[in-house]
Amino acid sequence: MDFSAYLKDPQLSLAGKTALITGASSGIGLASACQLAEAGVHLKLVARRQERLLATQAFLSERFGVKVEILCADLTESGVIQKMDDANFFEADIVLNNAGLASGRDAVADSRAADWQRMLDLNINAAFEINRQVVPRMLAQGQGDLVCLGSIAGHISYEGGAIYCASKHALRAFCECLRRETAGQNLRVILISPGMVETEFTQVRLGSETEAAAVYADMTPLSPADIARQIVFALQQPRHLNWDELVITAQDQGGVKKVVRHSTP
Ligand code: NAP
Repeated sequence: MDFSAYLKDPQLSLAGKTALITGASSGIGLASACQLAEAGVHLKLVARRQERLLATQAFLSERFGVKVEILCADLTESGVIQKMDDANFFEADIVLNNAGLASGRDAVADSRAADWQRMLDLNINAAFEINRQVVPRMLAQGQGDLVCLGSIAGHISYEGGAIYCASKHALRAFCECLRRETAGQNLRVILISPGMVETEFTQVRLGSETEAAAVYADMTPLSPADIARQIVFALQQPRHLNWDELVITAQDQGGVKKVVRHSTP
């Protein structure tokens, strides 16, 4: 018997590729920047906080010898797409559409229009528009990998999360449509849908460090590095393989609102 076809294929090398990452100044975006740089990927990083981008640029270029370009920009401001285009930020082999947020956890009846707008502007309008910019370029260059950060909230809706859940459901639908439209054209559309990851996300959502800390108390959430590792692994798969979606939760999280806490004696 010939066993060669059943043995593990070598992983695809990412070295020398270029990745655009939105929301690269913290959490999943920052961890992905670090792990992609470690894999030899040149980076184009976008976020609002300049000092963090500068520190990341200095660290990663020194440590891994990759080229790291940064763009300090608010993805919800008009003119940002032109700014990114002027900086050639849409020229990339890999795009990690990661910037996103939840704002508040009020019921619809008590919610604020400003919170809705923040989520819709970033999670939907900016994410969709960036995809619209990069997809034709990837198709023209004959290859590309588009990774979007969804959420388990894109599958399961919960009270107090109407707009956030709706935005992640919308992103999942968008990715599904795009995957169908581009099938067979060497463009991989990958959706990563995590449960609880300990990042600044919860602090941004609740506006309080103490309340955010309570969300992760006495349980082990996913870490940004856990998610980045899955992203790199998905990208390293042979090109004929499209990792459509990964739903990933902490072992202590049995569902959107089921979290097992282990009290310490
Ligand atoms: P995070 O630590 O708060 O990171 C969010 C990133 O987005 C930051 O780098 C932030 O940088 C950037 N950002 C926010 N608003 C922006 C704007 N207007 N323009 C440009 N950049 C902006 O949160 P995270 O957990 O890593 O979230 C990343 C993605 O994962 C999001 O799409 C989120 O919905 C998704 N997700 C998170 C979890 C979780 O439990 N953490 C679970 C499922 C899915 P600046 O503030 O410097 O701009």
